[in-house]
Amino acid sequence: MDAPSIGPLEKKYVLRALREGFVSTYGPYVGFFEKEFAAFVQEGYPVAVQSGTAALHLALHQLGVGAQDEVIVPALTFIASANPIVYVGAKPVFVDVDPLSWNISIEDIEKKITPKTKAIIAVHLYGNCCDISRLVKVARKHKLFLVEDATESLGSRFAGRHTGSFGDYGCFSFNGNKTVTTGGGGLVLCRSVPAAEHLRLVVNQARPGVEYTHTEVGFNYRMTNLEASLGLAQLERLNGFVRKKSLFREIYTQGTIGLPVCLQKEYAQAESCFWLNAMTFENAKIREKAQEVLKSAGVPFRRIFAPISESLPYGWADKKSLLNTYDIYDRGLCLPSSVVNTEKSIHDVCKAIQKVFA
Ligand SMILES: *Cc1c(COP(=O)(O)O)cnc(C)c1O
Repeated sequence: MDAPSIGPLEKKYVLRALREGFVSTYGPYVGFFEKEFAAFVQEGYPVAVQSGTAALHLALHQLGVGAQDEVIVPALTFIASANPIVYVGAKPVFVDVDPLSWNISIEDIEKKITPKTKAIIAVHLYGNCCDISRLVKVARKHKLFLVEDATESLGSRFAGRHTGSFGDYGCFSFNGNKTVTTGGGGLVLCRSVPAAEHLRLVVNQARPGVEYTHTEVGFNYRMTNLEASLGLAQLERLNGFVRKKSLFREIYTQGTIGLPVCLQKEYAQAESCFWLNAMTFENAKIREKAQEVLKSAGVPFRRIFAPISESLPYGWADKKSLLNTYDIYDRGLCLPSSVVNTEKSIHDVCKAIQKVFA
């Protein structure tokens, strides 16, 4: 339901890199990929890395977040939003989401800030923009860093600016299921040249270029040229992907008018590119019925991300304050949204949903 679109251009570019022998980190294509990415988002200084998870890890590392620090993260997201907090030795503090946008609740953030809070990770869930201007203000007011988990929101804009360009760092993913894929990969969008230069050093074992010289403890988090080549083809097609995603969103909106279902609501200044279209039903019973109907119609679907506080490593989290997170998980489903779908197949999904209420 979120398969990538791989065509002749991807094959051509990957074969070119193979022919030239640029398979690993040495070669020109990672730089080209960063340049094309910068041209798309029109802001910031991109550093391509191994995954979205690595991007988030690097952002926290670069901000100096560590032991004794707390980092605020929404409970309704993929677990990779939270794990990097533990990688740097800090403690995740899970906050609830807004019932309409399904994104991090600013009210709950303000309740959970303590003297130990160092940063906020804002996730643009399923591509829907957070209330990012307000989040920037909240972070500034409390002197906190703001990291955007934009792994699901490539192509989304808020007040005309791309998600990932508002926080101290913006993190992207090019995993196989995301809007743009490099097979597996990620990117950190930095706000300054020195930050990007430092990151480019640490992702490559902190090698300034002199043999066996390492200036600090680095990482092996560099993207490869094979991956970047695949990504270059995908970036050329990205505007088409974004158009198709907005068309699918429109079909879901029109196709469910009058039904007792709710799509994620956008904030006033958002122009979200929905990576996934998801909706809630009135209650868990109807969600289960929808699963039956979709299954018999041959429509793939998935549950909403389980609250992170349900996963074993984070079972200690206080769940009582995460009411909207649990409610959306209980009542929601994710629907086919990949660009390999046709308009007709999305109309057919809507027809199946209408049957739930027939
Ligand atoms: C995909 C994803 C990540 C991690 O990206 P990878 O490239 O798979 O490591 C992080 N956060 C969210 C919300 C994601 O959907």
